[in-house]
Amino acid sequence: MTQILVTRPLPESVMERVRTLGDVTERAQTTSLSQSEMHSALSDYDIVLPTLGDLFSQSVFDSVSDIRCKLLANFGVGYNHIDVKAASDRGVAVTNTPGAVTDATADIAMTLMLMTARRAGEGERLVRAGQWEGWHPTQMLGLHLSGKTVAIIGMGRIGQAIAKRCHFGFGMQVVYASRSPKALDFPAEACASVPEAASKADVVVVAVPGGAETKHIINADVFAHMPAHAIFVNIARGDVVDEAALIEALQRKEIGGAGLDVYEFEPKVPEALMGMENVTLFPHLGTASLEVRTEMGHMAVTNIAAYLNSEPLPNPV
Ligand code: NAP
Repeated sequence: MTQILVTRPLPESVMERVRTLGDVTERAQTTSLSQSEMHSALSDYDIVLPTLGDLFSQSVFDSVSDIRCKLLANFGVGYNHIDVKAASDRGVAVTNTPGAVTDATADIAMTLMLMTARRAGEGERLVRAGQWEGWHPTQMLGLHLSGKTVAIIGMGRIGQAIAKRCHFGFGMQVVYASRSPKALDFPAEACASVPEAASKADVVVVAVPGGAETKHIINADVFAHMPAHAIFVNIARGDVVDEAALIEALQRKEIGGAGLDVYEFEPKVPEALMGMENVTLFPHLGTASLEVRTEMGHMAVTNIAAYLNSEPLPNPV
Protein backbone atom coordinates (compact mmCIF):
# COMPACT_ATOMS: atom_id res chain seq x y z
CA MET A 1 0.00 0.00 0.00
CA THR A 2 1.18 3.55 -0.78
CA GLN A 3 2.82 5.12 2.27
CA ILE A 4 1.90 8.81 2.63
CA LEU A 5 3.33 11.22 5.24
CA VAL A 6 1.42 14.39 6.12
CA THR A 7 3.84 16.57 8.07
CA ARG A 8 1.31 18.79 9.95
CA PRO A 9 -2.29 18.51 11.15
CA LEU A 10 -4.57 19.74 8.32
CA PRO A 11 -8.32 20.55 8.22
CA GLU A 12 -10.35 17.38 8.83
CA SER A 13 -12.03 17.21 5.39
CA VAL A 14 -8.54 17.21 3.81
CA MET A 15 -7.36 14.43 6.13
CA GLU A 16 -10.49 12.35 5.39
CA ARG A 17 -9.71 12.56 1.68
CA VAL A 18 -6.00 11.80 1.93
CA ARG A 19 -6.77 8.72 4.06
CA THR A 20 -8.64 7.25 1.09
CA LEU A 21 -5.46 7.36 -1.01
CA GLY A 22 -3.09 5.16 1.00
CA ASP A 23 -1.66 4.28 4.38
CA VAL A 24 -1.33 7.74 5.92
CA THR A 25 1.03 8.76 8.73
CA GLU A 26 -0.38 11.91 10.32
CA ARG A 27 2.34 13.78 12.17
CA ALA A 28 0.69 15.49 15.15
CA GLN A 29 3.33 18.19 15.81
CA THR A 30 2.90 21.70 14.42
CA THR A 31 6.67 22.29 14.20
CA SER A 32 8.93 21.84 11.14
CA LEU A 33 10.44 18.40 10.40
CA SER A 34 13.81 17.70 12.05
CA GLN A 35 16.77 16.50 9.95
CA SER A 36 16.11 12.87 10.93
CA GLU A 37 12.39 13.22 10.15
CA MET A 38 13.23 14.63 6.68
CA HIS A 39 15.62 11.74 6.13
CA SER A 40 12.87 9.29 7.09
CA ALA A 41 10.33 11.18 4.93
CA LEU A 42 12.47 10.60 1.83
CA SER A 43 13.47 7.02 2.61
CA ASP A 44 10.32 5.51 4.19
CA TYR A 45 7.41 7.09 2.30
CA ASP A 46 6.17 7.07 -1.32
CA ILE A 47 4.57 10.52 -1.05
CA VAL A 48 5.10 13.38 1.40
CA LEU A 49 2.74 16.33 1.95
CA PRO A 50 5.15 18.88 3.49
CA THR A 51 4.83 22.60 4.14
CA LEU A 52 6.67 25.83 5.08
CA GLY A 53 9.66 25.12 7.31
CA ASP A 54 10.26 21.55 6.12
CA LEU A 55 13.72 22.29 4.68
CA PHE A 56 14.27 19.74 1.92
CA SER A 57 17.72 21.07 1.01
CA GLN A 58 20.37 19.63 -1.29
CA SER A 59 22.15 18.19 1.76
CA VAL A 60 19.02 16.35 2.90
CA PHE A 61 18.65 14.77 -0.54
CA ASP A 62 22.39 13.95 -0.53
CA SER A 63 22.10 12.28 2.88
CA VAL A 64 19.62 9.64 1.61
CA SER A 65 21.20 7.02 -0.64
CA ASP A 66 18.01 5.17 -1.51
CA ILE A 67 15.14 7.64 -1.98
CA ARG A 68 11.70 6.00 -1.91
CA CYS A 69 9.70 9.25 -2.12
CA LYS A 70 8.44 10.18 -5.59
CA LEU A 71 6.36 13.27 -4.81
CA LEU A 72 6.56 16.25 -2.44
CA ALA A 73 3.02 17.66 -2.64
CA ASN A 74 3.68 20.96 -0.90
CA PHE A 75 0.92 22.67 1.09
CA GLY A 76 1.38 26.34 0.08
CA VAL A 77 2.28 28.32 -3.04
CA GLY A 78 5.76 29.24 -1.73
CA TYR A 79 8.24 26.38 -2.05
CA ASN A 80 11.58 28.07 -1.31
CA HIS A 81 12.06 25.55 1.54
CA ILE A 82 12.44 22.80 -1.09
CA ASP A 83 15.48 22.55 -3.36
CA VAL A 84 13.48 21.73 -6.50
CA LYS A 85 16.58 20.98 -8.62
CA ALA A 86 17.96 18.58 -6.00
CA ALA A 87 14.54 16.91 -5.86
CA SER A 88 14.29 16.61 -9.63
CA ASP A 89 17.85 15.23 -9.88
CA ARG A 90 16.78 12.42 -7.54
CA GLY A 91 13.49 11.75 -9.39
CA VAL A 92 11.23 13.48 -6.85
CA ALA A 93 8.44 15.67 -8.31
CA VAL A 94 7.31 18.79 -6.46
CA THR A 95 3.86 20.42 -6.61
CA ASN A 96 2.36 23.49 -4.86
CA THR A 97 -1.02 25.17 -4.30
CA PRO A 98 -1.17 28.38 -6.39
CA GLY A 99 -4.34 30.45 -6.65
CA ALA A 100 -5.97 29.14 -3.48
CA VAL A 101 -3.90 31.57 -1.42
CA THR A 102 -4.15 34.71 -3.58
CA ASP A 103 -7.13 36.67 -2.24
CA ALA A 104 -6.54 35.85 1.42
CA THR A 105 -2.91 36.96 1.23
CA ALA A 106 -3.85 40.15 -0.64
CA ASP A 107 -6.39 40.89 2.11
CA ILE A 108 -3.66 40.55 4.75
CA ALA A 109 -1.48 42.97 2.74
CA MET A 110 -4.33 45.51 2.81
CA THR A 111 -4.81 44.93 6.54
CA LEU A 112 -1.10 45.60 7.18
CA MET A 113 -1.18 48.65 4.92
CA LEU A 114 -4.22 50.19 6.61
CA MET A 115 -3.18 49.29 10.14
CA THR A 116 0.25 50.85 9.65
CA ALA A 117 -0.95 53.91 7.71
CA ARG A 118 -3.76 54.68 10.18
CA ARG A 119 -1.79 53.71 13.31
CA ALA A 120 -4.41 51.11 14.23
CA GLY A 121 -2.11 48.87 16.32
CA GLU A 122 -0.79 51.83 18.25
CA GLY A 123 -4.33 53.13 18.80
CA GLU A 124 -5.58 49.77 20.00
CA ARG A 125 -2.67 49.46 22.43
CA LEU A 126 -3.49 52.95 23.74
CA VAL A 127 -7.13 52.02 24.39
CA ARG A 128 -6.27 48.66 26.02
CA ALA A 129 -3.73 50.39 28.26
CA GLY A 130 -6.50 52.66 29.55
CA GLN A 131 -4.57 55.71 28.35
CA TRP A 132 -7.00 57.15 25.83
CA GLU A 133 -8.11 60.58 26.98
CA GLY A 134 -10.73 61.17 24.29
CA TRP A 135 -11.00 62.43 20.70
CA HIS A 136 -9.38 65.67 19.60
CA PRO A 137 -8.63 67.09 16.14
CA THR A 138 -4.90 66.46 16.06
CA GLN A 139 -4.77 63.11 17.83
CA MET A 140 -2.94 60.14 16.24
CA LEU A 141 -2.87 61.53 12.72
CA GLY A 142 -1.93 58.88 10.21
CA LEU A 143 -1.40 58.58 6.47
CA HIS A 144 -4.56 58.80 4.31
CA LEU A 145 -4.30 55.97 1.75
CA SER A 146 -7.03 56.92 -0.74
CA GLY A 147 -5.53 58.40 -3.90
CA LYS A 148 -1.94 57.64 -2.92
CA THR A 149 0.58 55.52 -4.88
CA VAL A 150 1.39 51.88 -4.19
CA ALA A 151 4.50 50.15 -5.56
CA ILE A 152 4.11 46.43 -6.09
CA ILE A 153 7.38 44.50 -6.18
CA GLY A 154 6.58 41.20 -7.93
CA MET A 155 3.43 41.61 -10.05
CA GLY A 156 2.30 37.96 -9.93
CA ARG A 157 -1.00 36.53 -8.72
CA ILE A 158 -0.85 38.08 -5.23
CA GLY A 159 0.81 41.31 -6.44
CA GLN A 160 -2.02 41.82 -8.94
CA ALA A 161 -4.71 41.05 -6.35
CA ILE A 162 -3.17 43.71 -4.06
CA ALA A 163 -2.88 46.21 -6.93
CA LYS A 164 -6.56 45.70 -7.85
CA ARG A 165 -7.66 46.25 -4.26
CA CYS A 166 -5.59 49.44 -4.14
CA HIS A 167 -6.77 50.75 -7.53
CA PHE A 168 -10.47 49.83 -7.48
CA GLY A 169 -11.00 50.04 -3.73
CA PHE A 170 -8.87 53.03 -2.75
CA GLY A 171 -8.39 54.97 -6.01
CA MET A 172 -4.64 54.51 -5.70
CA GLN A 173 -2.07 54.81 -8.51
CA VAL A 174 -0.12 51.61 -9.10
CA VAL A 175 3.55 51.42 -10.07
CA TYR A 176 5.44 48.14 -10.14
CA ALA A 177 8.71 46.31 -10.70
CA SER A 178 8.58 42.71 -11.85
CA ARG A 179 10.86 40.25 -13.61
CA SER A 180 8.94 40.07 -16.90
CA PRO A 181 6.52 42.36 -18.80
CA LYS A 182 2.87 42.13 -17.76
CA ALA A 183 -0.44 42.54 -19.60
CA LEU A 184 -2.64 43.95 -16.86
CA ASP A 185 -6.38 44.71 -16.90
CA PHE A 186 -5.99 47.81 -14.70
CA PRO A 187 -3.81 50.93 -15.06
CA ALA A 188 -0.26 50.47 -13.72
CA GLU A 189 3.13 51.97 -14.55
CA ALA A 190 6.03 49.58 -15.06
CA CYS A 191 9.34 50.71 -13.52
CA ALA A 192 12.79 49.63 -14.63
CA SER A 193 14.01 48.76 -11.14
CA VAL A 194 12.87 48.13 -7.58
CA PRO A 195 14.47 51.38 -6.24
CA GLU A 196 12.76 53.37 -9.02
CA ALA A 197 9.34 51.96 -8.09
CA ALA A 198 10.07 52.55 -4.38
CA SER A 199 10.98 56.19 -5.01
CA LYS A 200 7.51 56.89 -6.47
CA ALA A 201 5.45 55.24 -3.75
CA ASP A 202 3.62 56.07 -0.54
CA VAL A 203 3.36 52.33 0.14
CA VAL A 204 5.77 49.63 -1.08
CA VAL A 205 4.51 46.04 -1.01
CA VAL A 206 6.74 43.07 -1.82
CA ALA A 207 5.11 39.93 -3.31
CA VAL A 208 7.94 37.97 -4.92
CA PRO A 209 8.72 34.31 -4.11
CA GLY A 210 11.51 33.63 -1.60
CA GLY A 211 14.79 31.92 -2.53
CA ALA A 212 18.29 32.68 -3.81
CA GLU A 213 17.12 34.89 -6.72
CA THR A 214 15.16 37.30 -4.53
CA LYS A 215 17.22 37.23 -1.30
CA HIS A 216 17.48 40.80 0.05
CA ILE A 217 15.84 42.25 -3.08
CA ILE A 218 14.54 44.80 -0.54
CA ASN A 219 17.67 46.33 0.96
CA ALA A 220 19.20 49.57 2.26
CA ASP A 221 19.22 51.06 -1.24
CA VAL A 222 15.49 50.46 -1.66
CA PHE A 223 14.69 52.01 1.74
CA ALA A 224 16.93 55.00 0.87
CA HIS A 225 14.84 55.56 -2.28
CA MET A 226 11.49 55.48 -0.42
CA PRO A 227 10.02 58.86 0.62
CA ALA A 228 10.40 59.46 4.38
CA HIS A 229 6.64 59.07 5.02
CA ALA A 230 6.28 55.86 2.97
CA ILE A 231 5.28 52.51 4.44
CA PHE A 232 6.86 49.16 3.63
CA VAL A 233 4.76 45.95 3.64
CA ASN A 234 6.03 42.37 3.35
CA ILE A 235 3.62 39.46 2.82
CA ALA A 236 6.10 37.45 0.70
CA ARG A 237 8.93 35.67 2.53
CA GLY A 238 11.24 36.96 5.25
CA ASP A 239 14.49 36.52 3.37
CA VAL A 240 13.48 38.84 0.53
CA VAL A 241 14.12 41.69 3.00
CA ASP A 242 17.42 42.63 4.61
CA GLU A 243 15.85 42.85 8.07
CA ALA A 244 18.85 44.66 9.61
CA ALA A 245 18.59 47.33 6.88
CA LEU A 246 14.85 47.63 7.52
CA ILE A 247 15.45 48.19 11.24
CA GLU A 248 18.10 50.82 10.47
CA ALA A 249 15.84 52.61 8.00
CA LEU A 250 13.05 52.72 10.62
CA GLN A 251 15.42 53.87 13.38
CA ARG A 252 16.82 56.63 11.16
CA LYS A 253 13.26 57.60 10.12
CA GLU A 254 14.20 57.06 6.46
CA ILE A 255 10.76 55.43 6.07
CA GLY A 256 7.46 56.03 7.82
CA GLY A 257 6.59 52.55 9.04
CA ALA A 258 6.33 48.85 8.19
CA GLY A 259 3.73 46.10 8.15
CA LEU A 260 5.18 42.60 8.31
CA ASP A 261 3.60 39.16 8.01
CA VAL A 262 6.92 37.29 7.59
CA TYR A 263 10.44 37.60 9.03
CA GLU A 264 13.97 36.83 7.90
CA PHE A 265 14.59 34.41 10.80
CA GLU A 266 10.99 33.36 11.36
CA PRO A 267 9.55 32.78 13.94
CA LYS A 268 12.16 35.01 15.57
CA VAL A 269 10.98 38.63 15.50
CA PRO A 270 13.67 41.20 16.35
CA GLU A 271 13.19 43.04 19.67
CA ALA A 272 13.94 46.30 17.83
CA LEU A 273 10.82 45.86 15.67
CA MET A 274 8.67 44.88 18.64
CA GLY A 275 9.56 48.15 20.34
CA MET A 276 8.42 50.37 17.44
CA GLU A 277 4.89 51.82 17.48
CA ASN A 278 4.94 52.46 13.70
CA VAL A 279 5.43 48.77 12.87
CA THR A 280 2.59 46.25 12.53
CA LEU A 281 3.62 42.66 13.25
CA PHE A 282 1.57 39.62 12.22
CA PRO A 283 2.39 35.94 12.87
CA HIS A 284 2.39 34.85 9.17
CA LEU A 285 -1.40 35.17 8.82
CA GLY A 286 -1.48 35.37 4.98
CA THR A 287 -3.66 32.32 4.32
CA ALA A 288 -4.96 31.75 7.83
CA SER A 289 -8.65 31.02 7.33
CA LEU A 290 -10.27 27.58 7.49
CA GLU A 291 -11.77 27.97 3.99
CA VAL A 292 -8.41 28.83 2.43
CA ARG A 293 -6.39 26.23 4.32
CA THR A 294 -9.01 23.62 3.32
CA GLU A 295 -8.75 24.61 -0.36
CA MET A 296 -4.94 24.50 -0.17
CA GLY A 297 -5.11 21.03 1.40
CA HIS A 298 -7.47 19.75 -1.27
CA MET A 299 -5.17 21.09 -4.01
CA ALA A 300 -2.24 19.21 -2.48
CA VAL A 301 -4.34 16.03 -2.24
CA THR A 302 -5.51 16.45 -5.86
CA ASN A 303 -1.86 16.44 -6.90
CA ILE A 304 -1.29 13.24 -4.91
CA ALA A 305 -4.36 11.62 -6.51
CA ALA A 306 -3.15 12.59 -10.00
CA TYR A 307 0.27 11.08 -9.29
CA LEU A 308 -1.32 7.82 -8.07
CA ASN A 309 -3.51 7.66 -11.21
CA SER A 310 -0.47 8.31 -13.43
CA GLU A 311 -2.11 11.51 -14.67
CA PRO A 312 -0.26 14.79 -15.36
CA LEU A 313 0.35 16.67 -12.09
CA PRO A 314 -2.01 19.72 -11.97
CA ASN A 315 0.47 22.03 -10.16
CA PRO A 316 4.09 21.05 -10.85
CA VAL A 317 6.78 23.58 -9.90
P1 NAP B 1 3.60 34.32 -8.48
O1 NAP B 1 2.27 34.40 -9.15
O2 NAP B 1 4.62 33.40 -8.99
O3 NAP B 1 4.16 35.81 -8.40
C1 NAP B 1 5.45 36.14 -8.06
C2 NAP B 1 5.86 37.33 -8.90
O4 NAP B 1 7.16 37.78 -8.52
C3 NAP B 1 5.93 37.00 -10.39
O5 NAP B 1 5.30 38.02 -11.10
C4 NAP B 1 7.42 36.95 -10.63
O6 NAP B 1 7.96 37.03 -11.90
C5 NAP B 1 7.90 38.03 -9.72
N1 NAP B 1 9.33 37.89 -9.47
C6 NAP B 1 10.05 36.76 -9.27
N2 NAP B 1 11.34 37.03 -9.09
C7 NAP B 1 11.45 38.38 -9.20
C8 NAP B 1 12.53 39.27 -9.12
N3 NAP B 1 13.78 38.83 -8.91
N4 NAP B 1 12.29 40.60 -9.27
C9 NAP B 1 11.04 41.06 -9.49
N5 NAP B 1 9.97 40.24 -9.57
C10 NAP B 1 10.17 38.93 -9.44
O7 NAP B 1 3.40 33.92 -6.94
P2 NAP B 1 2.21 34.35 -5.95
O8 NAP B 1 1.17 33.31 -5.94
O9 NAP B 1 1.83 35.76 -6.24
O10 NAP B 1 2.99 34.25 -4.55
C11 NAP B 1 4.11 35.05 -4.30
C12 NAP B 1 4.79 34.63 -3.01
O11 NAP B 1 4.03 35.05 -1.90
C13 NAP B 1 4.90 33.11 -2.81
O12 NAP B 1 6.00 32.56 -3.49
C14 NAP B 1 4.99 32.97 -1.31
O13 NAP B 1 6.34 32.88 -0.89
C15 NAP B 1 4.37 34.25 -0.78
N6 NAP B 1 3.14 33.97 -0.03
C16 NAP B 1 3.07 34.36 1.28
C17 NAP B 1 1.91 34.08 1.99
C18 NAP B 1 1.78 34.47 3.43
O14 NAP B 1 1.14 33.74 4.18
N7 NAP B 1 2.31 35.60 3.85
C19 NAP B 1 0.85 33.40 1.39
C20 NAP B 1 0.97 33.04 0.07
C21 NAP B 1 2.12 33.32 -0.64
P3 NAP B 1 7.38 37.53 -13.30
O15 NAP B 1 7.42 39.03 -13.22
O16 NAP B 1 8.33 36.94 -14.27
O17 NAP B 1 6.01 36.98 -13.44
